[in-house]
Amino acid sequence: MVNFGFTINKSTRIDYDQASKDVSRYVIAHEPSALLCIGCGCCTATCSAGQFTPFNLRRIQLQVHRGELARLEQETEKCMLCGKCQMVCPRGVNTRHLVMTIHKAMTLYNRGELKDL
Ligand code: SF4
Ligand code: SF4
Repeated sequence: MVNFGFTINKSTRIDYDQASKDVSRYVIAHEPSALLCIGCGCCTATCSAGQFTPFNLRRIQLQVHRGELARLEQETEKCMLCGKCQMVCPRGVNTRHLVMTIHKAMTLYNRGELKDL
């Protein structure tokens, strides 16, 4: 085979049929304002934790709903619960409680204790 000097990248395709929606369902049931998010990113722009780490609440919400759950438990531990995100959210999402709910859901999920709702 001819060596062209490059390799094929690993696929980043997301298989939504395989992705777990359990955490997303749990989060919406326990913090329904999660459904109001329009992904504007204001929470991320003002985030205290985001000033010092790659913590990104907008991305975390997207990952939860896509079922991309790797490392989300550790990510949510970076939130300082300062509440700045809640003050700027144009949709009135209860962001502090949302972060805590995602963290709890991920803890239960990783222990295999998340009950399907
Ligand atoms: S500021 Fe509110 S609406 Fe905008 S991405 Fe954050 S949670 Fe969603
Ligand atoms: S409460 Fe958490 S997510 Fe919101 S601005 Fe503060 S550190 Fe960031």
